[in-house]
Amino acid sequence: MSNPLDPRQQTDPRDFLALDSLIDDDERAIQQTVRRYVQDRVLPDIADWYDEGVFPRDLAKEMGSLGLLGMHLDGYGCAGTNAVSYGLACLELEAGDSGFRSFVSVQGSLAMFPIHAFGSEEQKQEWLPRMAAGEAIGCFGLTEPDSGSDPGSMRTWARKDGTDWVLNGTKMWITNGPIADVAIVWARTDEGVRGFVVPTDTPGFTTNTVHKKASLRASVTGELVLEDVRLPDSAVLPGVTGLRGPLSCLNEARFGILFGAVGAGRACYEAALDYSLSREQFGRPIAGFQLVQRKLVEMMISVNRSTLVALHLGRLKDRGQLSPAQVSFGKMDNVRQALEVAREARNSLGANGITLEYPVIRHMNNLESVYTYEGTNEIHTLTLGQAITGLAAFR
Ligand SMILES: Cc1cc2nc3c(=O)[nH]c(=O)nc-3n(C[C@H](O)[C@H](O)[C@H](O)COP(=O)(O)OP(=O)(O)OC[C@H]3O[C@@H](n4cnc5c(N)ncnc54)[C@H](O)[C@@H]3O)c2cc1C
Repeated sequence: MSNPLDPRQQTDPRDFLALDSLIDDDERAIQQTVRRYVQDRVLPDIADWYDEGVFPRDLAKEMGSLGLLGMHLDGYGCAGTNAVSYGLACLELEAGDSGFRSFVSVQGSLAMFPIHAFGSEEQKQEWLPRMAAGEAIGCFGLTEPDSGSDPGSMRTWARKDGTDWVLNGTKMWITNGPIADVAIVWARTDEGVRGFVVPTDTPGFTTNTVHKKASLRASVTGELVLEDVRLPDSAVLPGVTGLRGPLSCLNEARFGILFGAVGAGRACYEAALDYSLSREQFGRPIAGFQLVQRKLVEMMISVNRSTLVALHLGRLKDRGQLSPAQVSFGKMDNVRQALEVAREARNSLGANGITLEYPVIRHMNNLESVYTYEGTNEIHTLTLGQAITGLAAFR
């Protein structure tokens, strides 16, 4: 018997502001497809993959066949969806694990996007169809051991030798690096920073895996070592010179992150809600205590607010009106919101909150990486500070 006075009948605790009404049928179909995929193929094993520190490479082809790789790019085997659909796919993947969203972000936005936007027709034909299918894996080498937030200080150097280029340097913290077939490597040249499409079997190119990570464990992170890597002139990305190249890729990837973080936050909120309703202490469900309800309400509001931000920024992107500073707003705020939700959810689960039997501490640890990569919280604060004052405070 329905009770019209029951407030839970007027609102869905899992979609409180009815934000599902803001997306169309095509977008919803993509979101539901990815959600089902995550439920069927990621969630059953993710705790083990995380525990063992492995990314199941076989799943790349499955994600390719779902159209998730280079999803918002056109042609060359890519799905060509709108930005909101791409964002919703990232949201659902990260509700599974940030490692899976990271894989898709790196493949699509950091490795395929620069080839698509700045590559020669030959580079596009050679790499994009295989990367869209998940048959070839890409990585993006910008960060170096001594050059993180300030990529302009990079030391990796490419010098011209006849018609060839010779690259030397080290890239650090590179997602997918040790499993990649192709690396987009950014290097200084006499002409400014240039991007190079480097097949990872090129002599002089080696990788080392970063071990003992306590975050993003279901994602491979590594070091790229380039020792006299000789490449033909056709390996350079012809369409861009300067830091604008890598920064425009990061802008694309950050867009996926600002949606993805919502998924991680949502998963933590829902885990805390379910747990609080079933866990009893002092003779009743802990969800009945005021202090617990306050936490749940704060989490719920945070997830809804960050979803709204993501959808709004997605609509701006689809209209071609999204600025890099607005992407910084979304990346910075949605990730810190998700991290706060994860920490509150972890607390709500008590001792169970520290085990991988529940998703929360995995998300919480993952989000520490997401908080740092693709521009730290501080760097996005400075970007926003510059955007509203006109004054740069980076150095
Ligand atoms: C799991 C993981 C995966 C990654 N994947 C990739 C990848 O695929 N490709 C890639 O190129 N990189 C990747 N990165 C690297 C990532 O982008 C960098 O870690 C990030 O840019 C920060 O650089 P850093 O770690 O050197 O920190 P630093 O730049 O040394 O910063 C350290 C601290 O100082 C602060 N800081 C720095 N400058 C300022 C300033 N001007 N004002 C105030 N505070 C400041 C920072 O905010 C931070 O808190 C990855 C990192 C991680 C953890």
